[in-house]
Amino acid sequence: MKIPGKMAKEVLRHSLKPPATLNYPYVKPEMPDNFRGKIVFDPVRCIGCRMCVKDCPALAIEIAAVGDKKFEARFYLDRCIYCAQCVDSCPKDALLNTKEYELAQIDRQNHRITFHAHADGVVVDPAP
Ligand code: SF4
Ligand code: SF4
Repeated sequence: MKIPGKMAKEVLRHSLKPPATLNYPYVKPEMPDNFRGKIVFDPVRCIGCRMCVKDCPALAIEIAAVGDKKFEARFYLDRCIYCAQCVDSCPKDALLNTKEYELAQIDRQNHRITFHAHADGVVVDPAP
């Protein structure tokens, strides 16, 4: 029987190699630099042009004016498809992709986050 013989060789060959998969979640993979993970917003850079809102295919961003040239962003991460179009469209680099990928939530309200503009111009903690 040729085929089982071949198979045994393959099994033996692979049993000597390190596994191709990681034992997630105990071992977490390092994402590449251009990974499109959770989006973050920098209100100091934002000029309120709303290009991100216009270009988002998932209607996942709202930008609100909260003072003189101050803007805050609300993200609906439960709608976001992580395409990074908003990051590309922003003329001020106010939106960034992070490497964060563990985004599962039991309550979808936790996917709705607001990045507030602080009075002193310093950024940034997202709050539900
Ligand atoms: S990554 Fe894509 S879907 Fe998500 S907020 Fe940006 S443009 Fe919208
Ligand atoms: S595209 Fe950039 S600068 Fe314009 S509203 Fe969105 S985050 Fe702000």
